[in-house]
Amino acid sequence: MSGIGDGLGDLGSMLDPDDWEEYREALHRVADAAVDLLKDARSHHWRRLPEQQREAVLLGDAASGVPMAQVADELIRGIMPFGSGNTHPRFFGWVQGGGNAAGVLAELAAAVMNSNCGGRNHAAIAVERDVIDWSRRIFGLPEDASGILVTGTSQATVLALAAARQRALGDDSRRTGLHGHPPLVVYAAAGVHAAVAKATELVGIGSANLRLVPIDPQTGAMAVERLALMVAEDRERGMRPCCVVGTAGSVDRGAFDPLSAIAEVCRREGLWFHVDGAFGAWLRIASPDLRRLVDGIDCADSLACDFHKWMFVPYDCGMLLMRDEAGHRAAFATRPSYLASQGDGIAGGEPWYCDYGIDLSRGFRALKVWATLRAYGVDRIGEVITGNCRLANRLATLVEVSPALRCQARVISNVCCFGIDAPSLDASERGRINAAVVRHLQSTGEIVLSTTSIEGMTVMRAAITNHRTTESDIEATVGAVERLVEEAMSSPPA
Ligand SMILES: *Cc1c(COP(=O)(O)O)cnc(C)c1O
Repeated sequence: MSGIGDGLGDLGSMLDPDDWEEYREALHRVADAAVDLLKDARSHHWRRLPEQQREAVLLGDAASGVPMAQVADELIRGIMPFGSGNTHPRFFGWVQGGGNAAGVLAELAAAVMNSNCGGRNHAAIAVERDVIDWSRRIFGLPEDASGILVTGTSQATVLALAAARQRALGDDSRRTGLHGHPPLVVYAAAGVHAAVAKATELVGIGSANLRLVPIDPQTGAMAVERLALMVAEDRERGMRPCCVVGTAGSVDRGAFDPLSAIAEVCRREGLWFHVDGAFGAWLRIASPDLRRLVDGIDCADSLACDFHKWMFVPYDCGMLLMRDEAGHRAAFATRPSYLASQGDGIAGGEPWYCDYGIDLSRGFRALKVWATLRAYGVDRIGEVITGNCRLANRLATLVEVSPALRCQARVISNVCCFGIDAPSLDASERGRINAAVVRHLQSTGEIVLSTTSIEGMTVMRAAITNHRTTESDIEATVGAVERLVEEAMSSPPA
């Protein structure tokens, strides 16, 4: 009689390397290439992936493997040199962090450990607790607040709104959904990130029920006096106001809503106060003049922010902090019989992170955060953040003295929005040239800006979340933009 174990013998692992020395050599070569990429970050901007490089590493049907040494070669030659360029000191597009060397050590260690951080009792869980606890102290949340590391602020926002929804509708809503309840309403400033609209859609509130509160045109901050009026109007119409999202660092212009004032409205009206602090929350560790922009963040019921942007932790890593641990757990905990916790062995270690979010299987994101904080310390990272804001101001100064350029919004933190200064052209023509300049720069990758819209006009935008940027990078950027603007002005399109 034959059984499923027949013929397996003592072959050992089918997947561990046959030749450990070959593997050691391959790993060392990849490590050397990693050090070189980090050390020479300044000479590695984005460039288009050459077709033959792409084809050289295509999987095809992947029917059989290749030697480990070849895998290392393909990584080093075919993939690692063709990153997205956000490790380069002149990368200012969107809001992207540049990673860091200590985080790379942690990524290797975490990959070897291969920890599943859904829960249980092991070092990775202890490190994640430590990181959450450190963050809780930085943001001034109470000692019994909870938190979880997630992919990014987008996922953290979904979790926060799910918890807010549950608080508004009661625990039974996990079972019954939104049926039989008046429509919930979420409020946020115009200029709120699209991730918030997406989150309202995913939790069934619907983006039509995301009310945009007007902003102050000077500061880009929520006009809080309008918020209370809108809440009252919605109650009048039979809707159920549920949550206010305060933005700490808006994506288009780096603006900060008045968090303390929003918290006060939420307290009076019985609303959940969520803060989207994807990058801007970290002004909490910057110089005092910047830090005051996030005053009131400690009043949040939930806070979403990223480690992968302005804390320079390698992608991906975001975080959700929750004031009310019981509410947090009530929104997500599910423990079917096959996940029972057992004493203090491997299956101990309560609370489990799977009870604080969506994912059951989770990677060891906390280690790269831990390594980053361990290696540099929070003061040094805070200095980088402060320095980035100073550079955004420097950029604005250079733009203002340039005859060809002007600022399009006041610099509040680390974002500078600017464009061509050509009174003879109307806004749409100026917007077209602004976009063309950005597109041209992006096509070479040597300097990367992105665009946004300020009062309906397309503008150039630099978001400085970059620990490698120096003042001369800012000067070079303005110089390059000036040259392209001059070209565009001297050869208008037919
Ligand atoms: C980047 C960003 C988000 C989305 O965060 P991800 O980490 O990219 O998911 C949300 N809000 C703001 C203000 C952001 O800058």
